[in-house]
This record gives sequence, structure tokens and C-alpha cells, in this order.
Amino acid sequence: MRRPLWPERLYVDFDSFFASAEQYLEPALRGRPVGVLPVDSPNTALIAASVEAKRAGVRGIMRRDEAEAACPGIVLRVARPDAYVALHHRIRKCLEAHVEVLAVRSIDEAVARLMANEAARARDLGEEIKRDFAATFAPCLSLSIGVAANELLAKIAAEMDKPNGLRVLLPGDLPEALAHLPLRDIPGISKGMEQRLHDAGVRDFPGLWALAPKHARKLWGGVQGERFVAALHGYAIEQPVTQKRMFGHGRVLPPDWRTPERMLVCARVLLVKAARRLRREGYLASSLTVSVRPHGGAGLAVTHAFAAARDDHTFIRALDTAFAVWRANAPPGKTKSVSVTLHGLSLLSQRQGELFADLPDVSAERWERVSDIKDQLQARYGGNSLHIGEALELPGGYAGGKIAFGRIPHELDFL
Ligand SMILES: [Mg+2]
Repeated sequence: MRRPLWPERLYVDFDSFFASAEQYLEPALRGRPVGVLPVDSPNTALIAASVEAKRAGVRGIMRRDEAEAACPGIVLRVARPDAYVALHHRIRKCLEAHVEVLAVRSIDEAVARLMANEAARARDLGEEIKRDFAATFAPCLSLSIGVAANELLAKIAAEMDKPNGLRVLLPGDLPEALAHLPLRDIPGISKGMEQRLHDAGVRDFPGLWALAPKHARKLWGGVQGERFVAALHGYAIEQPVTQKRMFGHGRVLPPDWRTPERMLVCARVLLVKAARRLRREGYLASSLTVSVRPHGGAGLAVTHAFAAARDDHTFIRALDTAFAVWRANAPPGKTKSVSVTLHGLSLLSQRQGELFADLPDVSAERWERVSDIKDQLQARYGGNSLHIGEALELPGGYAGGKIAFGRIPHELDFL
């Protein structure tokens, strides 16, 4: 394993991105407490809160009524995924003017490579990036930067002084600089992993840091444990490559399936299939696009963003929302095909625990278990075992006409 001679990675993470994006896009909101909702409903939960709202006690993920109680002046906005994605591309361009971007990790996170000369002036470089962003966009669109030997440490460093943070971690700073971090604040330590570490007597960062490679392998159940601890020690460990960009399915509809009601049914079936593949391959998705194309036309695609999830319940709700938007904006004329894609992917193995620690009583973890159980039953009994909603017939197009949804084998899970 190689130990870099200088901090080779710079990690950028925007602060309260959806909320600060709203403040950037709507200048009247700057300096005011802002919360962003996935849908306009009284029973929903915030997916982002601005710095001002957080100061008043609002958390990034909090039920709407709780947020309004904690901060009566809070301004709520419904998320505009298209606008955030457009902003993301502009942000990336701005970042690329300063550093070599190696990978985009989410809509508001990216990792860059630093050369020796850049690393030597990492602090100044970080300040320059921040100044450029403040000038190009607005100071409300603030970002936190971490610089360290590898991506894991740089991401931790970016998290340490939020908001508007800038932290450079050098090999000599460890483990003291991170000794105070709760285990759950370290990307990759889930609730379950924390419990396993506790059971093994590891209760804090110094304990984690001191784990012998063999012990780490045993605790993680594989070589990734050893890699994780080596990364904490500043070795040049690359994150596993996120090869997948999306999971999706599409279908050309038979004429009797071209009504909005039946198209939605079809889209749900396609979605559930895509979601099963996503879970099988260990991913989370944070946005969904439903796209409907007419005969020989460009069609209309609607995207809906949400907090990263992997359960059918969340995905179906996102589809229903996106589909309602499509219906309200659908151009006249006959539609021909429908497709659903899940994107904004991240690896389950890298999920941070915070989302789940704070999630309101609408328990995402419970919905995930339901989906996992459904997958297991389907894998074991081959289908017909369990599904959400009514049993559906998928419009055919291959394998000899109509296929019962529950009996679709894995081989037919293609794009
Ligand atoms: Mg962020």
C-alpha cells in the first residue's frame, strides 16, 4: 500500500445545498431561514434546511410541523430538482477551473486530485475556490472543503468545520485531530457497524484507528475492513468505483395501455423491477425520472428528487409525484412509451447514518426491511409471493405477450 507524500485529495461539499440553492435562485430568501420540502404536503418532512434555519434548531431532515414549531419564520419551498441539476453543472464547471475533478459523488459533492505544488498551498487554494464561488454565484451558496491524503479523510475533513469550512489534515495530525469524532460521523460507519464495533469493545475513533488489519477484516466481514482502517491511516485507498449511473426500464405500450391511468400502472411495475435491481447491486437512489414519449415526438421527462433511499415505498411515492407533474404538463396527443429511471446513485456501503438517526417516525428503515423481505421471498419462491398494491399484468412486447409481474425472472431485468 502506498502512503502519499502530500495530501492528494480535495473534497468539496456544499452546505445545506438544496436550501442554499433556493437562496441563490431567489435572492429575497438570502439571510432568512429556509426549508426545502420534497412535495407540497402537510405530512411531509424537510429534505434540507438553510444555515439560518439550523441556527433556530431545525435539522436537515425534520417533519414539516416540527420545523415550523422550531422556527416559526421559516420559509418553505418545494424542491426544484431540474434547477438544482442545472446549478450542479455550473458549479462543476467553476470547480474544474481550479482543480482536476476526479469524481462527482452527489449533486453537491465532488472529489479532486491535488498535485504536489497544489497540495503545498492547499489552504490558499481552498480560499481561492471559495472566493470564486462567492463571486460567481453568491456567498449564500457556501461550501466546505477538506484536504487530506485520500478521499475518505478529505470527506471527513470537509465535514469538520461546516458550514463554510476549510480543513487540511496532514499525516502528523492523526489520530488526534479526529479523536473526538463519534463513530457514526465517519462515512461508512452505519448503525449496524457501530453496534458491531461496540460489541468488539471499539467505542471511539482512537479505538477504531488502533484496530489491527486482521481484526478489521473480521469485523467488516471482508477485506474492505482492512482497507477502511488503512484509509484512516492515510494510505492511498481509492473508493470503490461507482460504475452504475442509473437503473431503469422502459416499455412501448400496447394501444389499450396508452391512458394515463394504465401508463402509471405500467410505470410502477417497471419501477419496482428497477428498484429490485438497485437493491441487489447495493445502491441507493436520490432521484427518479419518468419519461413519456408520444408517437415520433420528443416526449416529456419529469424528475423528482428525494433523500437517498432504496425502498419501494419511497420510490413509488416519488413516481406518483413525478407522474402527477407529467399529467399536469402533458402535451396533447397519443403517447407511445413510458420509462422510469432511478439515478443520483450512491453505494449502500458508503451510506452515512445521519439520515436514519434523525428520520421522523415515518420509518424509512422499516420500509427498507419490507422491500428486502419482498426481494428475498421473490428470490426464494420465484414470484407470486408478495407485491405492493394489486397483482398486475405487465404489457408484453417480449417473451410471448403478457407476463405476470410476479413471475418475471431476473434474466428479463434488462434496460
Ligand atoms: Mg452537502
